[in-house]
Amino acid sequence: MEIVFLYYKPLVTATRGFFIYQLTIKKMKTINRLRNIGIMAHVDAGKTTFTERALYYTGLTHRMGNVDDGNTVMDTDPQEGKRGITISSAAVTTYWKLDGENYQINIIDTPGHVDFTAEVERSLRVLDGAVAVFCAKSGVQPQSETVWRQANRYNVPRIIMVNKMDRQGADFLRVVNEIRGRLNTNAVPVQLPIGAEDSFVGVVDLVAMKAILWDGDDGKTFYQNEIPEHLLQDAQTWRTQLLEELSLTSESILNKYLAQQEISSDELHIALQNATLQQQLIPVLCGSAFKNKGVQPVIDAVVRCLPSPADITTIKVYENETHTPVELATSENAPFVGLAFKIVTDDFVGKLTMVRVYTGVLKAGDTLINSRTGKKVRVARIMRVMSAKTESVEQINTGDIGAIIGLKDVKTGDTLCGEGISISLEKMEFPEPMIGYAIEPKTTGDGTRLGEALSRLTDEDPTLTVEIDTATGQTILKGMGELHLEVVLEKLATEYKVEVKKGQPQISYKEYLRKPVIHRTVLKRQNGGSGNFADISFELLPGGEGQQGLEFVNEIKGGVIPREFIPNVQKGFEQAMQKGSLAGYPLQSLKVRLFDGSIHEKDSHLQDFEEAAHIGFRDAAKLSNPGLLEPVMEVEVITPDEFTGAVTGDLNRRRGLIKSLDLNGDGQRIVALVPLAELFEYVTVLRTLTSGRASATITFNSYQPVPDGIVSSLLTHST
Ligand code: GDP
Repeated sequence: MEIVFLYYKPLVTATRGFFIYQLTIKKMKTINRLRNIGIMAHVDAGKTTFTERALYYTGLTHRMGNVDDGNTVMDTDPQEGKRGITISSAAVTTYWKLDGENYQINIIDTPGHVDFTAEVERSLRVLDGAVAVFCAKSGVQPQSETVWRQANRYNVPRIIMVNKMDRQGADFLRVVNEIRGRLNTNAVPVQLPIGAEDSFVGVVDLVAMKAILWDGDDGKTFYQNEIPEHLLQDAQTWRTQLLEELSLTSESILNKYLAQQEISSDELHIALQNATLQQQLIPVLCGSAFKNKGVQPVIDAVVRCLPSPADITTIKVYENETHTPVELATSENAPFVGLAFKIVTDDFVGKLTMVRVYTGVLKAGDTLINSRTGKKVRVARIMRVMSAKTESVEQINTGDIGAIIGLKDVKTGDTLCGEGISISLEKMEFPEPMIGYAIEPKTTGDGTRLGEALSRLTDEDPTLTVEIDTATGQTILKGMGELHLEVVLEKLATEYKVEVKKGQPQISYKEYLRKPVIHRTVLKRQNGGSGNFADISFELLPGGEGQQGLEFVNEIKGGVIPREFIPNVQKGFEQAMQKGSLAGYPLQSLKVRLFDGSIHEKDSHLQDFEEAAHIGFRDAAKLSNPGLLEPVMEVEVITPDEFTGAVTGDLNRRRGLIKSLDLNGDGQRIVALVPLAELFEYVTVLRTLTSGRASATITFNSYQPVPDGIVSSLLTHST
């Protein structure tokens, strides 16, 4: 299978750093020389710095960007430069040469901040492999655990880079142990650091059994040397460990290892790739992106160990008509199937829909069907995104990533299909927004622009929703956390020039039922000639452990309610549970057992049964002693030991439950479960409490019952 390798020359120089390039096809290469990878990590572990260095060494940028100076290639969003965190996951295409072959690498930078997990989810969904970056001092941080679990869910093969080897307190083997223990994973060093902290100078390659050392300021040049004497024994020990691990996964390595025969680097690389693809082990490398050491071997490992789209021979899809799951073989000759995984709007180019091509080829001029809407969409122009610049291309091949310009009515997560195929790819899972603000435009002129801006922003970000409160008529903007919403409001002001006033933050509570209730509802209305009639007997029960939504059990015998009415009863309960009887919040889960009822020959309509379910739910739910559930967050604080008392005391006052206290490389690590309602402006308060020396990471944990004593105070506070 051939894919096109492109070289460009600038045609037009446009504003805002965008260039349109004229294409000259120079060279062909194959799909197995393509890598779609993500860089995942806890915020601040060094993803952006690592990516910048990788782009510099692969020749895409000619100047090294620096996060601290706010001039990196990946951070194209002005908000990001300002906050120093990566909000959007920009996709960048670059090229790398290894053993005389050219490889194309599409890098998706995934953000590490918890408020932006949707970005992480969507990038993991379209990637074939990932580099997980950990800090050599801080080790496994909560966000790395969250992202790790997400990557497990999407079965993404990984390699690990332990970054910041130059930092005070850097300890490679401690971090490897932490990764093995806390992430329950078979992380195996394929390198050892040479020195640490100020004296970190390079790495020992345990496959080639050579030292790699960097010289020069920008890290572009490096050379191989013999392993320093003092590290020889360690290197032997860890190479043996690596060989033993690979022997468990490869028979040929096992045989040679047992027979004490020489094993070549090539053989080890093949075994390593197979084991990484099967996720039997995760190779661990190390370096210091900031000090420009250790980056190139990680890019080599991306090419050597991580899969190409050719390794993904089938994908799970659902037939649109029947919703039956089927395995679809990927092929360049099959009809096109792609996933719209990210939408970005740019003032100059317009709306860019980022698409991963799973099978077939995407061509400019194609007409596709959006599986969600069933409507046709026309592909006018396709581009390849190289961060701040884009290049027009004629087609994007199987396995590759590109952007379609100007698609209408396409949302993140939509499947696009070519002619002759009607399927949907598996849906992306996004967490529900947990917090909202009532917003209103500052001036009437801002009103129309606000509507347009919000519709653009919600198209781009599936964890952002806009609701109209039916009682007050207010517009409620909901998102994943305070920071998420703050970023959105700032975007509204700076990019869309819409100023809004915001109300108090409102938590998305849920309701639950505490005890079963048996109930009968009879709807009987007579207006002149025709009437309405529905009669249902049902039991409302609390939902089971881990259940979301409605479980509906139809126990009607002898057709006392004819079959065609049953879906309407179910629909009625489904709608009714969106508004609980305690404070109008939706029910997290509910079980309904419909066991008896009757109809009237003439007066019963489908709609009457829906209405009866509504009334029945409203009356019965009140009798089941309903309670309130609130989002509870896991808060991890890293603080110098002297502030431990102050931090735990404050967490206790916030209804926090301390789960663990332990010392790690950065100081005291406190993990607590704290209701979201008690966490407003927590980061600011923590800063004051600890003279700015502690840091906190807040991740969603679960919905938990609110103690009865405080339900009423929470409700008055939030409304
Ligand atoms: P991200 O949030 O994971 O993208 O991390 P960044 O790349 O933005 O880096 C966070 C901070 O760590 C910045 O101040 C970087 O300069 C710094 N940093 C990144 N890599 C290294 C490294 O290898 N060593 C040291 N000492 N600092 C680093």
